[in-house]
Order: sequence, then C-alpha cells, then structure tokens
Amino acid sequence: MIKDIQGLHHVTSLASAAQSNNDFFTKVLGLRRVKKTVNFDAPHVYHLYYGDEVGTPGSVMTYFPFPGAKRGRHGTGEVGITGYAVPKGTLPFWRERLATFDIAVKDTSAFGETRLEFTGPDGDEFALIETEDDRAPWTGGGVGADEAIRGFHSASMRLKDDGATAELLKFMGYKERARDGNVTRFGVPDGNGADVIDVETLPGAKPADQGAGSVHHIAFAVENRAKQLEVRKALSDTGYQVTPVIDRDYFWAIYFRTPGGVLFEVATNEPGFDRDEDTAHLGEALKLPRQHAHLRDVLEQKYLEPIRD
Ligand code: ZN
Repeated sequence: MIKDIQGLHHVTSLASAAQSNNDFFTKVLGLRRVKKTVNFDAPHVYHLYYGDEVGTPGSVMTYFPFPGAKRGRHGTGEVGITGYAVPKGTLPFWRERLATFDIAVKDTSAFGETRLEFTGPDGDEFALIETEDDRAPWTGGGVGADEAIRGFHSASMRLKDDGATAELLKFMGYKERARDGNVTRFGVPDGNGADVIDVETLPGAKPADQGAGSVHHIAFAVENRAKQLEVRKALSDTGYQVTPVIDRDYFWAIYFRTPGGVLFEVATNEPGFDRDEDTAHLGEALKLPRQHAHLRDVLEQKYLEPIRD
C-alpha cells in the first residue's frame, strides 16, 4: 500500500473564458491567482492557478480556459463537486456574498456537515463546507480572515460502479470513513487538510461529456520526487498505466486513468509557485515554460486575451 499521498494537490477544470473564470475565483471566492501561465501541452490556451497566498498544495484550483468551449454535461465517470473548507458559522456570510454576485445557492448537509452548493461561470460545481481547519487563508481578495476559504475540503467523484475505485483509493492510503446514502467518504490519515474524497455511486446515470465546467483531473500531493517515484512504481506494479514523470515547472506530475474513468495525477509539493516569481507578485506576469518561451509574442498578440484584474 502507498503511504505517501497527503491529500489533494490541485484540481484542474475546463472553462470557456479566462476573464469570467478569473473574476469568479479572485473577486467572488476571494482566492489569489498564484500563476498565469499556459497549458504546456496547448500553449495557445492559458493555464490559470488560484489558491492561498503561495498556492499551497491542497488549495490550488487550476483552469484551462478554451475560449468559447461548449459546456460539458455532468454525469458519471467524472469529478463532481469540488469542496472548499470554510470556518464554522460562516455560511450566512457566504450566502449573502454569493447573492450579491447573483449566484444561486443550495443549502445541503452531508456527513453531519453544513454546506452551501453553487456553480461557477461554466456550471462548474462547488461547495463551501463548514469545518474545523487551521490552514491560513489568503485575505488579499476582499474576504476577511474570519470567513476566507482555507483550501480544499474534498473532491467528489460520480461513478457508475465504485468498487474498483474504492480499492484504488485504499491502495493509495485512503481509508473508508463513513457512508451517507449512496456516497462513501474516504480520507487519508494525517493529511494536508484537503484529504477527503467522496465517491457517489449512480448506476443508472448517464456518463459525463467533458467540456467547459468539467473537472479535467484531480491531482494528489506527495512531498517530493523521490516519493513520487515510489508511488509511480507501486501503481505500475499493480497494473496501472502511469505516464513518465513530467516537468510542470511548479511541480512534477505523473498521470493515470482510474477504473471509474476519472483521470488522476500525482504531483510533488516541490518546487512550488514561487520558483520563478516573488511571493509578493505571484500570478501577475505571464510566465512561460522554457519550451514555449519563443512563442511569447504570438501568444500575447494573437491567442491570450489580456485579463483585467
Ligand atoms: Zn494537474
């Protein structure tokens, strides 16, 4: 069994427009844009990262905004709700804040936790979940320290059949914590705070069709490259087709497709988002990886619409 997974590292989704995406995360949710770069595999598209002050693993939501992309259809074989942790007693504040941005909310509860569900600009599914959490929030986005988002609480997967994925999560070090209706909750002990995965079983539902508003993959955090190689070997030895280690500049990544259809990544906590920018100015300038640096002029002039902060 793998013992080095600490919880989520980041969640990566698709969007239809960079500006509305940026505004939703920085102005509505009050997160910090910690990196403005491009999709390393399709550099004519931005890759935007939002998180806490430094983009601590477990706080980082990332997007590929493909201009005008058609909206995805939610269904099975995908990540559904991305849950954010907020302090106890703050949902009334958030209900009011979201209302001022004309965002409809739904009050729900699961596993004894009170939550507020809502959608992003492309129908992306989120929940704010009240929980005890001692992670330090980013407060530069207009939400005070008493209410601000602490980082991810969880990601939920919608699956036709949860059996093989449950086995995989256990192999990855997750333990079954509880069941609520058709949802099984898994958690990794002594994790990074973003340590919950909910698996919802929907045998009769249609498969998802990926598009804007869909989660593309979720990444799990490991401390460093040595641990990542151990995780890669353990997954490969179990029969998973895992990619070679890929340099994403701010972390190292491996990817593999899970039995339920969701794409998993395992990403390193090193080197982090401050490797090429001062912490005070994270996310401000367009940063390009070495392999795409020669494209800067054409990307800035033709493809990447400037983002107004
Ligand atoms: Zn990723």
